[in-house]
Amino acid sequence: MTAPTHTPSLLCPSLRRLLSMLALTATLAGCGVTRPYYSGFYLDAPTLQESDRSEMVVYLDAMIRAEKIKGLSFSLPGGKSQSIVPHDETSPPTIDWLPLPVLFATRFILNPKLKGLEVDLYVQTEADGYTPVTAIQELDGRVRIQMGAARKTLLPEGGAPTPAALSARFGIGAVTADDRQWQPIELYALEQALGLLAPAELATLSSLPFVRKQRAERATKSLPPDKVWGLYEGNAGDDQPRRIFLYDTKEKHENSLFIGDPGQAYPIVTMCLLHEMGHALADFARIQAYRTRNQQISQHNELVERWNALLAADRLQGAERDELKQKLAQIRAESDGYEPQFMQTKRDYDRSHGPVHATYRRVRGPDRGPTEYGRTDIEESFAESFALYKADPAALRRIYPEVHDWFAAGGHLQALREGLGAHAGLLDKPATSLAQRGSGAVIEDAQRK
Ligand SMILES: [Zn+2]
Repeated sequence: MTAPTHTPSLLCPSLRRLLSMLALTATLAGCGVTRPYYSGFYLDAPTLQESDRSEMVVYLDAMIRAEKIKGLSFSLPGGKSQSIVPHDETSPPTIDWLPLPVLFATRFILNPKLKGLEVDLYVQTEADGYTPVTAIQELDGRVRIQMGAARKTLLPEGGAPTPAALSARFGIGAVTADDRQWQPIELYALEQALGLLAPAELATLSSLPFVRKQRAERATKSLPPDKVWGLYEGNAGDDQPRRIFLYDTKEKHENSLFIGDPGQAYPIVTMCLLHEMGHALADFARIQAYRTRNQQISQHNELVERWNALLAADRLQGAERDELKQKLAQIRAESDGYEPQFMQTKRDYDRSHGPVHATYRRVRGPDRGPTEYGRTDIEESFAESFALYKADPAALRRIYPEVHDWFAAGGHLQALREGLGAHAGLLDKPATSLAQRGSGAVIEDAQRK
């Protein structure tokens, strides 16, 4: 990282840590960003003390005097807004009056290598606890800082919901612990994520279990196992349902970042969980196609078994024989009738990752994002955009206005309905956590990721 020209040479330890963090981020972001983006990096922000103020003020005042800052505006709790650059008659001569969290966020986002970035930071101070601050550096270098009200704790007053309460309220499957317990902040984050979903979106998660595990068993796309924070596993077989996993993340990660507006801050874990829910939604037509096919095959196999058993016992005769024959003919006809839609769905997913991703790709265009990780491929891009649309729609609008409007118009659900064909009515059913259907023969265990 090239140090900004006005960096004072004496840094207190917390700011030294801040600068090393900046270096990491800058490496990730790289140069030549042409599209705004949202942060997706790990962060462990230091707890600030009042003694940190003078260094930040000296630095920022020097930057302003040297006209290194193209634009700098703040909005503070209570609706107070102030522009420092460009200077006008209302602009104060220095920025020493600004709250500590705002100074920190400004110092952080002013790095020339963070052009285009939005980051939602919890700035921790000894006096006030956690202060949510949104920091944005536009592509032209203008910086906008928005601060919310400080809070002493990140959990709501009533505490976190229980796993059983979440399953019952939202109709998802069991919320269970594998080799890790759900932390209260994670249960709260899951509640927030599910609460942000529209009924049709929630219907795609019907009976889907959520599992807390220490770490992923294998690498996922560009990430090694210890960097995977969440995982959607898409099994089509009834005996091995699809699942969403939440794994450990870097310690204190959830104390340093949030997602949303500073006036409506959600835990950063909510973004991870919404991301996985986005995968589950986009995969729903494929899952339904395989489920339907599996059920038809299992019904057919059961009838054939009965037929063979009766035949072996020399009892295949009369009305029972006729009934079995008729049922077999019926299930074969159903299966044949369903075959074209099944093959079409399979082709759609093989070729373009299904109807939701295909439509999303057209709306989004070729610019990859909306986060670093969203640049991986179209599936990760969709999942990140879905999470942003739900928890921080303003952030998505800044990056992909067309994608924001597509979600707002229900474009993702329309694409899914078309992909579901005869099963589109499933989106209108309330999610239910009732037991899985009985297990049957599995034609193909379509595991993805
Ligand atoms: Zn993903």
